Amino acid sequence: MPILPSNSDFMQLALIEGRRALPACRPNPPVGCVMVRDHQVISQGHTQPPGQPHAEAMALAKLPEGGRGVTAYVTLEPCSFQGRTPSCALALIDKGVERVFVGMLDPDPRNAGAGVRLLRQAGVEVIVGLLAEEVSRDLRTYLLAEA
Ligand SMILES: [Zn+2]
Repeated sequence: MPILPSNSDFMQLALIEGRRALPACRPNPPVGCVMVRDHQVISQGHTQPPGQPHAEAMALAKLPEGGRGVTAYVTLEPCSFQGRTPSCALALIDKGVERVFVGMLDPDPRNAGAGVRLLRQAGVEVIVGLLAEEVSRDLRTYLLAEA
């Protein structure tokens, strides 16, 4: 039996993907997202320059089929609000993604748990805090700058 990658392994990949967003994403945080089905990464995304897709939207756009059986690993809580781009939480729901691992909650007062609530209300399973320490180390300065 091959050893299957763990949830932490996939969040680690999301972290690495997020770092690819720098420096073009600034002043937005360099968020990374990977989509997994049957223990395999099927798409990934990172924060695009301001006004262009967020990490989740970029990964969703590359999903070959819908979100059935898909788990998303995203370093920062998906946005609940429509800013310069549509809400990522709603986009994940629309696509039918079944489970979302979140590295850390978004301290932006427009979000701050609202993204997670939206997902849960729609029946998506959400697990918050996976690799929180590593994620926070990567995102901290950008999140403070945004506030
Ligand atoms: Zn977003």
